[in-house]
Amino acid sequence: MAVVTRFAPSPTGPLHLGHAYAALIAQARGDGLLLRIEDIDTARCRQEFEAAIYEDLQWLGLSWGEPVVRQSDRRSAYDLALARLGDLGVTYQCTCTRTDIKTALSAPQEGVVATGPDGPLYPGTCRSARHGTGAVRLNMAAAMDRIGQIQFTETGLLPGPKVFDAQQMVSAVGDIVLARREIGTSYHLAVVVDDAAQAITEVTRGEDLRESTAIHVVLQRLLGLPTPVYHHHRLIRDDQGKRLAKRDDARALAKYRAEGATPADIRRWVGL
Ligand code: GLU
Ligand code: ZN
Repeated sequence: MAVVTRFAPSPTGPLHLGHAYAALIAQARGDGLLLRIEDIDTARCRQEFEAAIYEDLQWLGLSWGEPVVRQSDRRSAYDLALARLGDLGVTYQCTCTRTDIKTALSAPQEGVVATGPDGPLYPGTCRSARHGTGAVRLNMAAAMDRIGQIQFTETGLLPGPKVFDAQQMVSAVGDIVLARREIGTSYHLAVVVDDAAQAITEVTRGEDLRESTAIHVVLQRLLGLPTPVYHHHRLIRDDQGKRLAKRDDARALAKYRAEGATPADIRRWVGL
């Protein structure tokens, strides 16, 4: 069977070496590479960054199948998936502000604050509230009750089957946000819906997203979507071991190119 992979950048800034590595891995792992522009957060995304993405990828020697999916065009598909999860009874409305959540978490009886893939674990304040229009959260315990433990196959840094049970998902991930009021969806929901729509068979991504992958498999099971293989790869770091993606001064590919670097130089610098 043909392996279909994707590169899914957000046009919130220029591509840097870490992006180049991710894109080259996606291409190398697949028989066909697809591209997806993850631009749900319209306040942070810019048209000029999207144009620069195509230019940088072409310069690197990548080619991809058409059409390119833009998440900003896919709102109705996300709405449908969210409604379906609502029908299953595994979502609820959360009207907490960031400050509400902080206050609840700092209450003395809460004990140690655990951190999940999206930040501090949500304390569950709104889980049994009946009303409100706010963010939509996944009731992780209810979701895991429905589907039992989840598993996926990893081909990357820690190859083999990965299993997550209800207890792990509830205590390490919690009630994550599926749709923010301002955006109408979330990274997690959009990625799951789109990976299925693009018939991706192997998702390549940084190892920092392994816990997010578990969330995505939960959503696939709830929505009746296939689970791809996951290839978690290393992150490109600077000399001090700091993630390049997190550095404000991370140097853009375009800058290296302007200084005369070749695509072969880029491959060498990221260890390919
Ligand atoms: N858009 C996300 C990023 O740039 C990535 C993707 C993923 O789901 O693998 O980090
Ligand atoms: Zn809440």
